[in-house]
Formats: sequence, structure tokens, C-alpha cells
Amino acid sequence: MEIRFEPTKTPKAKPQDETKLGFGHIFTDHMFAMNYDAGQGWHDARIVPYGEISLSPAAMCLHYGQEIFEGLKAYRTADGTVQLFRPDENYKRMNNSAERMVIPKIDEKFMVEATKKLVEIEKDWVPHTDGASLYIRPFIFATDPYVGVKPADHYLFLIILSPSGPYYSTGLDPVKIYVEQKYVRAVRGGTGFAKTAANYAISLKGQDEAHEQDYEQVLWLDGVEQKYIEEVGSMNIFFVIDGEVITPELTGSVLPGITRKSALEVCKAKGIKATERRITIQEVADAYDAGKLDEVFGTGTAAVISPVGHLKWGDKVMTINDNKIGKISQMLYDTMTGIQWGKIEDKFGWTVKIG
Ligand SMILES: *Cc1c(COP(=O)(O)O)cnc(C)c1O
Repeated sequence: MEIRFEPTKTPKAKPQDETKLGFGHIFTDHMFAMNYDAGQGWHDARIVPYGEISLSPAAMCLHYGQEIFEGLKAYRTADGTVQLFRPDENYKRMNNSAERMVIPKIDEKFMVEATKKLVEIEKDWVPHTDGASLYIRPFIFATDPYVGVKPADHYLFLIILSPSGPYYSTGLDPVKIYVEQKYVRAVRGGTGFAKTAANYAISLKGQDEAHEQDYEQVLWLDGVEQKYIEEVGSMNIFFVIDGEVITPELTGSVLPGITRKSALEVCKAKGIKATERRITIQEVADAYDAGKLDEVFGTGTAAVISPVGHLKWGDKVMTINDNKIGKISQMLYDTMTGIQWGKIEDKFGWTVKIG
């Protein structure tokens, strides 16, 4: 499929101070768009000026939430090259989300090419500041003007780009997380593994209550017994117990993070024992009491590695590694950001250069 390009006539000024970008506020000059109509498939791929879209008030996505998304970044290396990190994995996961949400599948290879083309057009928007990057948000939603419940026949696929500042401005500060005991995020047979808006809508209440208690994130337990650890809701979770790296296995209610997968692969390459298995919050608390809970960290595209300094479960507050980043967390952070920003050799073949 050809990608039509309609350049903007009113380019915007690029942000001056890249350290103050924050996340998700500013959008670039262009976006990718493509339509799906039943009978015709995906068509009319185009890169057009970023701008508002018009939707029927009856558009099905607004009523029944048929939407999926992805998140990845473009990084500028020291020699000015712009590169992506494992974009093929994002579009593979997007198709798994599409399958679950009854959204038509996309051509993964074509979408990697379309993403490269869009980022190439917008490459001056990729920040130069160390640690800053261009966030890429592909998403698909149902547009049929119909308020009946059924899978839609019409969809819009968009990719928007947002320059974002360094996640850590003052070093890798550990986060405070509490174990959610009232609400659940996902259940067996549900949509936990899909990157879909509904999983976020359902998590906001727990997040809000955590903030009221001065915690930054919640750690979700399984939705049936509230016993097994799942994830943080925008990050996967890892524990280092007695030298072994452990992360909950993918049982269908956990989002299969690409950073999670990459962290496991880096551990294996470095000869560190890394296991995917079911792990209960009780096991973590017991390891803490025995002095064997060495490190806890989250993984996700935004932060890459986010050390957890405080973990609260009911009345029990665990302070991990003296509220400092641990050895394995630091090694993973250095290795993965090193590959992403082209500071170390990419032995895994994970990066995809633009242009
Ligand atoms: C996107 C996401 C993650 C992290 O996935 P990455 O591919 O590593 O960015 C973790 N949990 C949830 C619920 C997510 O939506």
C-alpha cells in the first residue's frame, strides 16, 4: 500500500527547553492515518497534518470502548542517527490485542515501515537532550455511527508523536508502591494481556486512592484470589530474591511488556538466573523478613527500569535495598538505555535505524 503525504502548511515551533517537555503534552506536525471498512480492508494510508478529527457522537468507540493502542519511542544517538527499539514487537502485540477486541488485524511489516516513514518526516522533533525521546502512540478505534452492541465495521488507525523529556531528571529515584487489595485490574479470560483503553479506565480508582495515601502506583494482584502478583498497571514487575530474578509469568491477565521481555533476555545473556513463574505477595513478604528481598523494580517503555523503594502490603511496609537502586536494576537500566541511545553495541539486533 502506498502512503500518501500531505505536508503541513503551518509547521509549529519546536520546544525550546527539552528538559521541561514532561510527557504527552506536545504533538508534532504530522500524524499517520488509515481507514478500515468491512469488505474493503485497511486502505487510504496517509501522513497528514496533525489535527482534530471529526467523529459521530454515536461512534461505537465512545460507547463500548472498542480501542487498542501501542507505545514505543524514537531515540536520537550521539551521531544524530534516529532509531526505534523493537517496533516489530509492538505491532505483533497490537495484533494480539486486535484479536481479543475483535478489531481487524494490521499488516505488521507495513506498519513498521509506516512508523519509520512518519518518524523520518518528523525527525527534527526527536529531542537532542540526553534521556529525552519521541514517544510514538499508534491506536485503533471503532467509528461506526451506531449505538447497538456488536463489533464495528469501520475503524480509524492513527499514529501521533509526542516529544517527551527525560523520565528521570534527578537520577533513578525509587518509587513507592502499594499492594492493591480492594480493586482488581484483570481476570482470567478477560483483557489483561491486551493493550486496550478499558484496562486503564478500570485501574484509575485504585491509582487515585493510592495517590491520596502518597503512593505513586499500585501493585495489582490476580483478580480471583488476590494472592498472586500480576503487574503495576503500566509496568511489569520484577523481584530479585536471593540473587534470582523473578517476574510473574504471562497467564493472560498480565500485559506482555516488551521491556519485560528484553530485561529477561539481557539477564539470560549476562548469565543471571531469571525465572517467569507465579509468585504470591506472601512469598515476597517472607523473603523480605528473611532478608532475601534484594531488589524490586518495574519495567516499561516510559521509565525502562523503575526501582521500587517502598512496597506496602496492608500494614506491612517493606523498604527495599535501603530505598536505593539495586545492582541488577542498574545493570538492566544501563544496558537497555545504552542500546536505545546507541551508547553501547546492540548485540541483540533490537534497534531499527530511520532513514
Ligand atoms: C504497555 C504496558 C506495560 C509495559 O509494556 P512495554 O512494552 O514494556 O512498554 C505494562 N503493563 C501495561 C498494563 C501496559 O499497558
